[in-house]
Amino acid sequence: MGPQHYVIGNWKMNGLVAGACALARAVLAGAPGCATQLALCPPATSLGAVAAVLGRGPVMLGGQDCHPKATGAHTGDVSAEMLADVGCGLVVVGHSERRTNHGERDDLVRAKAEAAHRAGLVAVICVGETLAEREAGRTREILATQLRGSVPAGATATRTIIAYEPVWAIGTGKVATPAQAAEAHGWIRSELDGMTGAGGAFSILYGGSVKPENATDLFALPGVDGALVGGASLDATQFLGIAAAAPRRRA
Ligand code: PEP
Repeated sequence: MGPQHYVIGNWKMNGLVAGACALARAVLAGAPGCATQLALCPPATSLGAVAAVLGRGPVMLGGQDCHPKATGAHTGDVSAEMLADVGCGLVVVGHSERRTNHGERDDLVRAKAEAAHRAGLVAVICVGETLAEREAGRTREILATQLRGSVPAGATATRTIIAYEPVWAIGTGKVATPAQAAEAHGWIRSELDGMTGAGGAFSILYGGSVKPENATDLFALPGVDGALVGGASLDATQFLGIAAAAPRRRA
């Protein structure tokens, strides 16, 4: 059996509790027909309420970020243990908006991924090049550096998902071409193989302006095991439309 297929919604800093619950309810209603593992990552303020909506159903709950430490004097932060406590099964770390807006570097992203593992969560580790880096021919080098810096030693495919998110494709409407996405996913998998000896087992998701209209083509690419979805995950019809393009059943 190959890597598990996921479609993960990252709601970012959008939505109040009532709207978050309505969106989660709509996604949950469409989940039974989906050939993929769905997950929703609401803002921290809505996690508890969305957890109550999702219950023990087929849609996983996720955090958008976590602190490396379990507890302590870290005002405004949320630990991986707190996410697990509220019902999360995964957490996104190293999203490019965290890397850019909060100056997060690979060693911090790795510490967050380690925290996720410590708390029993799946770490969704984001990597991706900027447009300038791609145009300078540095995509492979950037991805290798981010992977080697951000993925914890001993990471396993059951507890670690990689999201390839070219920064120039996030929220821009620009999507990597099939050739660009397939090449990047292949490179990430070979790097993971060098690092862990089990690259073929890891789920590698594509992220960057995924919509129902482009999901079928993306999911058909070799090495693309699903999507991390921003904008389109704020609309249940769009999100479920992306999920409907999944070619495989949940593992
Ligand atoms: C994201 O935030 O991870 C993302 C891929 O956003 P969007 O789908 O809006 O490009």
